[in-house]
Amino acid sequence: MTVMYEEALQRYEPVFGLETHVELGTVTKMFCGCVTTFGAEPNTQTCPVCLGLPGSLPVVNERAIEYTIKIGLALNCSIATWCRFARKNYFYPDMPKNFQISQYDEPLCTDGYLDVAVGGKTVRVGIERVHLEEDTGKSLHVGGATGRIQGAEYSLVDYNRAGIPLVEIVTKPVPGTRYLAPEVAKAYVTELRDVLRSLDVSDVRMEEGSMRCDVNTSISLIGSGTWGTRTETKNVNSLRSVERAVHSEIERQAAVLDAGNRVIQETRHFHEDTGVTTSGRSKEEAQDYRYFPEPDLVPVAPDADWVESIRASLPELPSARRARLIESWSLTELDFEALRNAGALDAVEATVAAGASPADARKWWLGELARRANDSGTEVSDLPITPAAVARVSALVAAGTLNDRLARQVIEAVLDGEGTPDEVVAARGLAVVSDDSALLAAIDEAIAANQDVVARIRDGKVQAAGVLVGAVMRATRGKADAARVKDLILERLA
Ligand SMILES: [Zn+2]
Repeated sequence: MTVMYEEALQRYEPVFGLETHVELGTVTKMFCGCVTTFGAEPNTQTCPVCLGLPGSLPVVNERAIEYTIKIGLALNCSIATWCRFARKNYFYPDMPKNFQISQYDEPLCTDGYLDVAVGGKTVRVGIERVHLEEDTGKSLHVGGATGRIQGAEYSLVDYNRAGIPLVEIVTKPVPGTRYLAPEVAKAYVTELRDVLRSLDVSDVRMEEGSMRCDVNTSISLIGSGTWGTRTETKNVNSLRSVERAVHSEIERQAAVLDAGNRVIQETRHFHEDTGVTTSGRSKEEAQDYRYFPEPDLVPVAPDADWVESIRASLPELPSARRARLIESWSLTELDFEALRNAGALDAVEATVAAGASPADARKWWLGELARRANDSGTEVSDLPITPAAVARVSALVAAGTLNDRLARQVIEAVLDGEGTPDEVVAARGLAVVSDDSALLAAIDEAIAANQDVVARIRDGKVQAAGVLVGAVMRATRGKADAARVKDLILERLA
């Protein structure tokens, strides 16, 4: 039995929560000096510590602690004055020590929040904790059809990732968002990604796995006063998938409850291709990790002055930037969303800083340049044109040197590597013909060739001048200022 989303929400109240893992962009690993470059040859970035060889001893990466405190402060958390790492014991081939050093009951940052905007409304998402741990290695299952361990002939393991600092950001349960639950979940991850990017603590690339989400979802009958049993959907690896995973779990759990069954507390897998989740291991069989304080590390006790100096060094956060840009560029919320969704905020801001008006900068980046990026399947920020060049084209239009049509040609030429806007204008002779005598020659030709039109204009049908303007624009290959041409024609015939 399937239940449609809207129908499910008429009876059930959804609650979701998110656990987000973020690989920190430190140069070296969490407890050793191995480098963390993505995509290196397997097992070339390892040492006795991150391979868990007997006798090796971990040392905490100070930069990772600093980054985690930065994240905690940006998420309005309290920073612990003293905390310890713990051993989380389990056996898995991608974890050579057979335990993971993590934080358990003493996280570095607790009790914060992040405000997210959805459809013009602000939803406050509570942050339960931000803690630091180390990433595992990566298994590669070879020979099967699915890339999963089932059906594989053999498995390979790469320990380059083992020991990379990993921050886990856990939200409090988010109730009361009703139909918007999937959208709010997606907006939270988007905002969190933007915050982390602004802090410059991670490259937050979901497609490379440096940011990964587990999505908890539950539903309960409206008015029941209790929350339902939650499921945990693992490794949801795109913003859109976060939204789809919550949506799909609400529908699935509603069907289970409608049929008189109970939702099982379990781990589920999200399938990008179908947009649904399937059952993984049951949480009721979840193992006991036998946590205990890590005996090889001293406690972390961040000095209050250090924490305050980190707070003072925080950059402008996305929410503050949003408010500032909306105000200073006179945007609506939707205008802002359009810029952000197009990935054009930085480019537009830099173009304005280079002297263009906000309206012109938005027009170019959301119009011509967004189209070009879309055609070539890249981000606008990766286009081979600088904000300064766009500002220069904009200035040439404002000065009357270029009209819109010529400006588009200049932009195209810059994108094709023909040089700066000024070089393109000079090399291609693209400037508007502003010399009236040159225009008058073309105008006289057009008048001579269109005597019938001239007669109509003299009869008072001024709009017929459009035919002559068109002829002049063709004759000058679009380089004339159409308004000036029309004035000259009317003067000539007066
Ligand atoms: Zn190492």
